[in-house]
Amino acid sequence: MSRKYLLPGAAALAMIVTPLTAGPAFAAPEAATIVYYDTSDAPSFRDVINAGAANWNAAVSNVKLQESSSGASLHYTEGNDPQGSYAQTDGHGSGTIFIDYTQAQEYNQTRIAAHETGHALGLPDHYEGPCSELMSGGGPGPSCTNANPDAQEASQVESLWANGFTGARKAATRVYEVTMPVR
Ligand SMILES: [Zn+2]
Repeated sequence: MSRKYLLPGAAALAMIVTPLTAGPAFAAPEAATIVYYDTSDAPSFRDVINAGAANWNAAVSNVKLQESSSGASLHYTEGNDPQGSYAQTDGHGSGTIFIDYTQAQEYNQTRIAAHETGHALGLPDHYEGPCSELMSGGGPGPSCTNANPDAQEASQVESLWANGFTGARKAATRVYEVTMPVR
């Protein structure tokens, strides 16, 4: 994958700013990695995408999601696909997330967006999990409206991004869906 996940200079700037704002230098945490995302090709779902991103931002500190119309590494799109919503991502903040219109009428939209965003942050599917897990996706059924990661999911993302961009686990680009694919 090309290294276009961050806006130029963003990481360097964050590293400069952090010691000034994070207390004693010896205890300064790693600066958060910022993943920029673009919703311009998913206008119907901009609000729920932003809500899902806000849920992640409230749950984790090592990586932050920020909307940007230019220079984004993560792109949201919308349309109709018989396989439903999916994320095509390296799990490292880069890729494309597709939100399917039909699925969005059946399942909680913020949960769909937050679930797919979880893939972009490095989490796999766990369909057998409870509604309290975000990555259980459509497993608990359409009545599940939880759009927040649970503590374990947040902890996993914190670990994956603990050392910033360069430390996050590299992975090949994969396609994840929000419900178990019907074959
Ligand atoms: Zn999924």
